[in-house]
Amino acid sequence: MEWESPLYREALLQFERVAEIAGLDANIRERLRTPQRALVVTFPFRRDDYGSVDTVFGYRVQHLLTMGPTKGGIRFAADVNLGEVAALAMLMTWKCAIVGLPFGGAKGGVRVNPNELSRAEMQRLTRRYTMEIINFIGPDKDIPAPDLGTNEDVMAWIMDTYSTHVGHTEPAVVTGKPPAVGGSVARREATGRGLVSLLPSTAAHVGLPVEGATVAVQGFGNVGKYAALAATQLGCKVVAVSDITGAIHNDSGFDVEKLMSWTTENRGIKGFPDSDEIDPADLLTLDVDVLIPAAVGNVITEHNVDDIRAKVIMEGANGPISSAADQTLSEGGVFIVPDILANAGGVTVSYFEWVQDLQNYFWSESEIVGRLREIMNRAFQEVLETATTHGTDMRTAALIKGISRVTQAKLARGVYP
Ligand code: NAD
Repeated sequence: MEWESPLYREALLQFERVAEIAGLDANIRERLRTPQRALVVTFPFRRDDYGSVDTVFGYRVQHLLTMGPTKGGIRFAADVNLGEVAALAMLMTWKCAIVGLPFGGAKGGVRVNPNELSRAEMQRLTRRYTMEIINFIGPDKDIPAPDLGTNEDVMAWIMDTYSTHVGHTEPAVVTGKPPAVGGSVARREATGRGLVSLLPSTAAHVGLPVEGATVAVQGFGNVGKYAALAATQLGCKVVAVSDITGAIHNDSGFDVEKLMSWTTENRGIKGFPDSDEIDPADLLTLDVDVLIPAAVGNVITEHNVDDIRAKVIMEGANGPISSAADQTLSEGGVFIVPDILANAGGVTVSYFEWVQDLQNYFWSESEIVGRLREIMNRAFQEVLETATTHGTDMRTAALIKGISRVTQAKLARGVYP
C-alpha cells in the first residue's frame, strides 16, 4: 500500500472504529480511507560551499477536496515519509471539520534534518520546494502553515516565492507568516489560548472550580507557555512546568510572565528562582486538577498510566496519550479533552489569517480572541453532546462529529459524473 507507515495504520484504525460507531455509509467510508491527491517530488538544493548539491524528497498530500481548499502544515524532518504525511493530512481533515472550518486536510514535508542546515540553505531549500509544489498550492487550492522544523521565516519565503512567480503579492497562500507580510496578530498565542478557553466549560462539566484549580504543564514552548499564561489569567495556579532542561514545582503557583522572561534569557526553565526541581517524569503523575501535556507525543503510556492522578487532561501536544493508556484513563473517570479539539486553536486562527489576507482587512486582537473562544466553545459543546448521545469518550465523539460533517458534505455533493 502506498501509504504504509505506523502512523497511517493508526489513523486508519481510529477512522474504521469511529466509522463503525457512526454507521458510516460504506461508499463514503471507502472514499475517506485514502487521500485524494498526493505529490511526491525529489529536488536539489545548493549547500553553502556552492559546489555541493543535495537531493531530497518532498511531499504534499491533500486528503479531502470536498470542504473548500485544503489546509495543513509543512514539516522538515529527517524521517518524513509519504505515509506519515498522508496520516497527518487525514487528521487535519477531522480537526478542521470538528471546529467547522471550510477546509479539507493536507500536510507536506521535506525529508531533511533542519538542524544541519544554515539559514541560507534552509531558504534555498524552501524556495525550491515551493517551486516543485507551486501548481498544487494557492489561496483557493491548498494553504500550507508551519509544523515541525519550519517557522514564520519559512512561511515568508514560501509566500515570497509564490508571489514572485504569479506576478503579484499573494499573502493568503500560507498562514503562520510574520505580521509584517500579512500574518495575524495573536496567531502565536492561539493554540495555548484556544486550549485554555475550554477550561471553564470543562471544569463546569466535571464540577471543578476554576478559581484556584491546580495545573501542571509539560513543555514550555509555543503551546505550553501561552496555555500556562492563560490559565493563570483565569485564576488557576500553575504549580509545575517542565521543558527539555528539566521540571520545576511551586505549591503557591508560578508567576508565568516572569517564568517566560526567564526562559527567554536562560534558554529554558532550569534554575528559575523560588521553585523546587523535580524529576520531569514525576510532573505527569502529580496530584493536580488539570494536566496539560504540551510537548511531544506518547508521554502517557501503559508504563505510567496507573500513576496519573489529574482529574482532567487537556492535550496540547498531538498524541500525548497512547491508545492503551487512553482507554485506562477514560475507564478510570479521567476527563480528557482530545488533541483534535483541544489544540485546534492554532488552525482556527490560521483560518482567520487567511480570511484577513483575502479581504486585505485586519482584525484587532480582541476580535480574534473573542471569535477563537466562540468557535472553540461551540465545538466543545457539540462534541460533549455527541459523547452523551453515543455514550462515548470525548475523543471518539470528536471524531464522530468531524467524520459526520464531512460525510454530510460528500453526500450533498454526490458523485461526478
Ligand atoms: P515548541 O517546540 O515551541 O515547544 C516544545 C516544548 O516542549 C519546549 O519547551 C521543549 O523544551 C519541550 N520539550 C520537548 N521535549 C520534552 C520532554 N521530553 N519533556 C518535557 N518537555 C519537552 O513546540 P510547540 O509548537 O509548543 O508544540 C508542542 C506540541 O503541540 C507538539 O506536539 C505540536 O505538534 C503540538 N501542536 C502545536 C501547535 C502550534 O500551534 N504550535 C498546534 C497544534 C499542535
